[in-house]
Amino acid sequence: MGITDKVRQYILQILFPAICLNCKSYLEKEQQGQALCSQCFGEIELVRSQPGLIAIGLYRNAPLQALIHGLKFKHFTHTLPQIEALIVKYMEEGYMPHDHYDLITYIPLHPQRKRQRGFNQAELIAKILGKILNLPVVSTLRRVRRTKEQSSIRNTKERLNNVRDCFALGDATAVKNKRIILADDVYTSGATISEAAKVLSQAGVEDIKVFVLANVG
Ligand SMILES: [Zn+2]
Repeated sequence: MGITDKVRQYILQILFPAICLNCKSYLEKEQQGQALCSQCFGEIELVRSQPGLIAIGLYRNAPLQALIHGLKFKHFTHTLPQIEALIVKYMEEGYMPHDHYDLITYIPLHPQRKRQRGFNQAELIAKILGKILNLPVVSTLRRVRRTKEQSSIRNTKERLNNVRDCFALGDATAVKNKRIILADDVYTSGATISEAAKVLSQAGVEDIKVFVLANVG
């Protein structure tokens, strides 16, 4: 490492002290660059997939929630390697169903919201999954109108109304007779995902499995 690299690293450490997003402890030298310390990462409990829904863990698990929150609200892209490691671990433990899939797609953001946020977290998760499973990631859906954040609405009926007919399909031939994985970050009431699945089913998708990092339920 040259002098300038050392100076640069020193400045970065002052600006962004390497602390764990969950327990806020300083990271050991060998853990620096990680989003969670190794202990917190190890405390993420994996849960078995249910029919139709693959959720890595539960949202009430604090380290998992910190990891997702860091990605979604703080633009911490350094969370991505541990998200990938978590998905790999999930598969190695045998929690992922050994089904055949053709492609991975994801819940889109409205273009305006994507511009504000700078990225779509569901798309990033789909890309990690695509890399691990060696499957193409295809953008199939688009938002045709803006909706409120589902997490800001408590009432189930209002959540359903909020997302009703908010999606449209781009190219129906891309999904017809295909077995697909639909990725998102968190499964909350299922209203958004059901709405997206409805549009995909109408286009003749053969099978849809939902993949999320965390299930609120
Ligand atoms: Zn920690």
